[in-house]
Amino acid sequence: MMRDHRPPPDEVRSSVARTETAAAAAPGDVPEAELRRALHRVADEIADYLAQIRQYPVIPKITPGAVRRRLPESPPLEPEPLDRILDDFRGLIAPNTTHWGHPGFMAYFPAAGSGPGILGEALAAAVNVNAMLWRTGPVQTELEEHACDWLRQMLALPAEFRGHINDTASVSSLLALAAARERTGGLDIRRRGMAGRSDLPPLTVYCSDQAHSSIDKAALTLGFGLEHLRRIDSDDAFRMRIDLLEQAIAADKAAGRRPVAVVGTLGTTSTTSIDPLRELAAIARREDMWFHVDGAYALSAGICPEFRPLMEGVEAADSIVTNPHKWLFVPVDCSVLFVRDPSMLRRAFSIIPDYLQTPETGVTNLMDYGVQLGRRFRSLKLWMVLRAFGVRGLLERIRYHCALAQRFAAWVDAEPGLERVAPVPFGTVCFRAVPPGMAEEPQDQLNERLLTEINAAGPIFLSHTRLRGRYVIRLTVGNLRTTAEDIEQAQRLIRESCQRLW
Ligand code: PLP
Repeated sequence: MMRDHRPPPDEVRSSVARTETAAAAAPGDVPEAELRRALHRVADEIADYLAQIRQYPVIPKITPGAVRRRLPESPPLEPEPLDRILDDFRGLIAPNTTHWGHPGFMAYFPAAGSGPGILGEALAAAVNVNAMLWRTGPVQTELEEHACDWLRQMLALPAEFRGHINDTASVSSLLALAAARERTGGLDIRRRGMAGRSDLPPLTVYCSDQAHSSIDKAALTLGFGLEHLRRIDSDDAFRMRIDLLEQAIAADKAAGRRPVAVVGTLGTTSTTSIDPLRELAAIARREDMWFHVDGAYALSAGICPEFRPLMEGVEAADSIVTNPHKWLFVPVDCSVLFVRDPSMLRRAFSIIPDYLQTPETGVTNLMDYGVQLGRRFRSLKLWMVLRAFGVRGLLERIRYHCALAQRFAAWVDAEPGLERVAPVPFGTVCFRAVPPGMAEEPQDQLNERLLTEINAAGPIFLSHTRLRGRYVIRLTVGNLRTTAEDIEQAQRLIRESCQRLW
């Protein structure tokens, strides 16, 4: 149980004064022997947590504020033993977590961590490098370039693509659209900005009505304005309609606006639909627009040759984002932005003040490829995951997840009172309850109650979306611990909840 650490204010003041005069001995890190012992215990804590994860409900049964009420209001003045802190991992952190690694976590796209990924995170924290420049992180820089190139090869992307690791797909897409803006001729936005310019036409970006909200955030951050993000309607299979895209581009050009980029989604968030990438690539080329592909979730499936025909056209993109932290078993965070012409990112972002100049020439300085200067050593966990599973191991796991999703989809199709509402190209199934004779609105309310009931039970966690205005339940398979028994359990729970509710 946690203590109240609040120190009396006088004590704080006098302690600060003492610190200023006491430079006699370096206080240093925690003692080496203590750290070593704690590291061994952390290894056990991690292994125990993962071994016991099934025993937790996927979402903790707590109310908002419950965790903060258990924490001391003020920070501890005196050092606490590492063992006591680690006791709180067991007593406070683990039980009050939403367990993304739980076999029943089938809600959002997975953040499917793995053992090798955990090892990579721990070791990255130990070396704790800030690889802004080659000089400040030589192995980090080169390993990032190399691991990204391994991933590129696994995905059968052309050799000219260079990978750059970011924290999230949101940031990767932001950088891609910044490069798109920079590439657009005659605008000089890097130097002159966008405000107060009568010579600058509105710049337009196109994506489908199913594209992720990160594209809206990129549009607003980069000053395109949400009004100039054209969300093109999708077809019956939730893919961007090419005819409507063509019309929108033509209308914008006729009105003096300047089309800058089109974003195709490979695996949309709601249904995992895939925009017609080949057609989008051709339009982008014809219109001299940047073509960005958001494959944050589904591009990982491209390591399996049988999924590549679904992705045709991705190789013609100017930039592609994929998140190994979603479906390639690398712990959060790790997003890879592949760019065909990396000089566009440098043109958009490189600024080298005196204090960041180094004597090496011909090296990659990762700070030149995005907004952030400092960066952590994310490539280590990616590299370790790729090595520990091998391409074959990763491929088998993705295939297994897709096979489980197909099995669940077949069950939905056969189950009276349930309806599947989208194709299942990967690991996600969208469905809803459709009691005969029930009108649309009560049906939506029923599905909302159904999801609440299913999630309250504990062993599984599903999410929802709206498609064409209708409430829909989503089940995603992508976790390393999920098995056929977990899918059967999900089916049982859904069936029982349906029976209770109508
Ligand atoms: N793009 C798609 C298709 C997504 O589904 C998501 C999140 O689920 C994102 C982008 C955003 O990912 P991130 O959390 O890495 O920014």
